[in-house]
Parts: sequence; structure tokens; C-alpha cells
Amino acid sequence: MKTKYNAIIIGSGIIGCSIAFELSKKGWKTLNVDKLAAAGLGSTANSCAVVRVHYSTLEGTAVAYESYRYWNDWTNYLGVEDPNGLAKFMKRGVLVFKSRVNDNLKKIRSMMDELGIGYENWDFEKVKEQFPILDNTSYYPPRRPEDPDFGKKNESPLSGAIYYPEGGYISDPTLSTHNVQVAAEARGAEFKYNAKVVNILKEDKRLIGVELADGILIEAPVVINASGPHSFIINRLAGVEDGMKIKTRALRHEVVHLPAPSGVDYESIGCPSSDSDIGAYWRPEIGNHILSGSEDPECDAKEWIDDPDDFNRNLTEQAKAQAYRLAQRIPDLRIPNQIQGVVDLYDVADDWIPIYDKSELPGFYLAVGTSGNQYKTAPVVGKMMAELIVQCENGQDHDKDPVVIRLKHLKRDVSLKFYSRLREINRESSFSVLG
Ligand SMILES: Cc1cc2nc3c(=O)[nH]c(=O)nc-3n(C[C@H](O)[C@H](O)[C@H](O)COP(=O)(O)OP(=O)(O)OC[C@H]3O[C@@H](n4cnc5c(N)ncnc54)[C@H](O)[C@@H]3O)c2cc1C
Repeated sequence: MKTKYNAIIIGSGIIGCSIAFELSKKGWKTLNVDKLAAAGLGSTANSCAVVRVHYSTLEGTAVAYESYRYWNDWTNYLGVEDPNGLAKFMKRGVLVFKSRVNDNLKKIRSMMDELGIGYENWDFEKVKEQFPILDNTSYYPPRRPEDPDFGKKNESPLSGAIYYPEGGYISDPTLSTHNVQVAAEARGAEFKYNAKVVNILKEDKRLIGVELADGILIEAPVVINASGPHSFIINRLAGVEDGMKIKTRALRHEVVHLPAPSGVDYESIGCPSSDSDIGAYWRPEIGNHILSGSEDPECDAKEWIDDPDDFNRNLTEQAKAQAYRLAQRIPDLRIPNQIQGVVDLYDVADDWIPIYDKSELPGFYLAVGTSGNQYKTAPVVGKMMAELIVQCENGQDHDKDPVVIRLKHLKRDVSLKFYSRLREINRESSFSVLG
């Protein structure tokens, strides 16, 4: 074994690539290893890639807004050309419906005010003016179509929505990950594909590298777990899971792609939208489709997956439930007999807030538990992890004296204690994909 690298990153999804980019900028020699054939082919590939700024916690909101600034300035952020082209930020804004369940977004609005993030408070007339296809009937709580009360209307309709101009979605999450890989390579980072990590190597209670499925051993003083929905498996290989108060699990999710109502060019006019009254989010998709996922309301049973390499990738009755619920908000929605869409896994932390932290194994770091909502934050996650790793390797005891990072656009500090594996469950969380 030869030590050629300062750090090995397990995973070349958007998180692993962003960490490689930021560590490389600090002069570290990194190697990403991924069992798939290219960057961004894991769960990132099926991400809805919505870039929104509203979260249920102040830290989550601050990090999301700071990240938005990088997506909005992608070319400069990367600093290099990618021969494959650059992913596009579709800056359409984001619409979030005010409803009973989110207390008309009072808490989120006060966080926006505190952070100085702009938003517009629309009544439903204004919503209709912008998006005539939307209906304001309230159906809360979200229900399954087989529920006899499905479609039962509440007396008061939705009052309106908050529109965040600073938001949108990324045209192609896999391409965006390739963009970051190319930017990292320009700084000296290396990537190895079709390379599955099967063992975390240790000597004298410190990590020394990884073993690949073909028997190759690669040595490095630092290894970072950025393996997405496989995170719990890698944590078990490293023997660090028992030392984490917050753990991660893989959760199966379906996303449906439905044709827009006839005569409506939703692809050009639509924006990412979030509606807790029907437990759904949606956004425009190529081919004038509307892509929609569940916001994990109580009626949708959670399908935890024991083996992230072996789960049902076909749509089920869940897809139908999501389509019917979306049709409550978009009554002219067309629902084909054969619904299309994608199925993939979230890497869910116990409180749906990620873990960006060290571990009890010196040299082994965690960028896990992204809980279906951390594609958008990847640029800042890369920076947070790089700073955390450098500080810890320089001797800072992060568990006692947490690393703090400066969000340069917001001009605000965030303590990485927020993302600690040793935190108590954060009760401020929405315990859903909304973070
Ligand atoms: C359906 C869906 C919709 C989503 N929508 C949004 C959204 O709209 N907005 C948002 O912000 N977030 C969204 N997310 C969440 C977001 O996509 C994820 O948080 C993010 O992509 C996770 O990136 P990652 O790099 O951690 O994981 P991945 O992209 O899964 O990358 C992990 C990589 O690790 C590799 N790996 C695993 N095990 C091993 C091993 N043993 N050896 C080597 N390599 C290994 C895998 O092959 C994989 O490439 C969504 C997620 C899903 C599934």
C-alpha cells in the first residue's frame, strides 16, 4: 500500500464530488471511489433537484440560501468549462402554499425576515393570475385514494402562497455532478469508478484506508463516507454506527411524471411548488411534464429498505396516490393509465437533518443522512466538510469545540454542531423531505 492521497471519499454523488472540489481547493490530494460507472449515477441521478430556500430550521434555511447563491453563479463557482456542457439553473422561483398545517408559513416567514431573504406574500387571486391551472380547495389532511374521505373538502379554501423569487431547479442533476467532478479534477482530484469499497482498514484504532472488492488496498489518513443511501452499510464497515446518536436508513420514494393539462405549456411557465394541504411537491419536467413527489404525510406508509442494492424500482399504488392528490390542486391534470416516473432512495437521518461530522474512528468522517433534501445544499456541504476535516486533522476537538463556518453571502456563521452525530433529535425539524 502506498499513501498517495490525503483523503479518500466514498461516493461520487453530488455530495462526494463537492467535498472533493473543496478539499482540492485547499491543496488536498483526494480520490473519490464509486461502485458505479460515473459521477452522479446514484440517488443524485433521480433527484428532483429543486433548489429552494425555505427549511424548518434557521440553520437549514441559511445553508440553503447560501447554496442557492452558488447555483445561481454556477460558471464562476466551478471556474472551469466542462466539455459535456453545464447544468442549467432554471430560476423560476418557488411557490409554497399557506395552509393550516404550516400555520400559514408564519415561522418560515420570520426566519426569512431574520436572514433578509426576499419573498412575496400572495393571496389566491394572485396565485391564479400567475398559475391559472391551480385550484384553492383545501383537502387537509392528505389522504389515500382508497380512503372513503378522499376528496372531502374543507370549508375554508387555501388563502394563498408565499413566492420565493430566489429558487428553481437544476435541469440535469447528473450533469451538475459531472461539472463538479471536472472542477475538482482541474484542482488535482482523482476519481475511480467501478470500485466498490468492501472494507475500512484500521491500524492501532485509527483508520488507514479502504479495501475494494477486487482486493486493491488504498491508503489514506482520511476517509469520508459520502455513500448516500448506502451510508449505514459503510458506517457499519467502519464500526462507527454504535457511536452515533443519530443514525441513517434508506427510504424508498416514488416520483411521478405526468403530462401537463392540455393547452398549457407548463414546462415554460411552471415553478417548483410545495403544498402540505395535499402532501405533495411538484415542478416542471422536460416533455411538458409535471414531476411530483410525496411530502411524506402520515397517510403514506414509509418503506424502509434493508438492502439498498435490492429494492423495487417499479412504480406502485403509491404513484397513483400521488397523481390523484396532485389532481386535487390541478384539476385538469391528465393521468394516463400507465403512470411513468422514477423510484429511488433517500438516505434518511432520524430527524431528517443530515450528519456532517467526524466519527469516533479518528480520520473517518460522515457526510450522510441527506434525507431527500440536500442536493441543493451540496456546494456549501462541500465547504463545511472541507473546513471540518482540516480543523479536526489539525487537532480541534469538534465534539467539545465545534467548528464554525462563515457563510460569505449571508455574512453569517453556522456552527457545525447543528449537524453533529451526537445531537439530540431536533424537534424543530419537519421530519419530512422538507428538512
Ligand atoms: C427521488 C428523490 C428526489 C429528491 N429531490 C430532491 C430535491 O428536489 N432537492 C434536493 O435538494 N434534494 C433532493 N433529493 C435528495 C438529494 O438528491 C440527495 O440528498 C443527494 O443527491 C445525495 O447525494 P449523495 O452524493 O449523498 O448520494 P448519491 O448520489 O447516492 O451518491 C452516493 C454514491 O456512493 C456510491 N457508493 C455507495 N456504496 C458504495 C461502496 N460501497 N463503494 C463505492 N461507492 C459506493 C454510490 O454508487 C453513489 O454513486 C432527492 C432524492 C431523491 C431520491
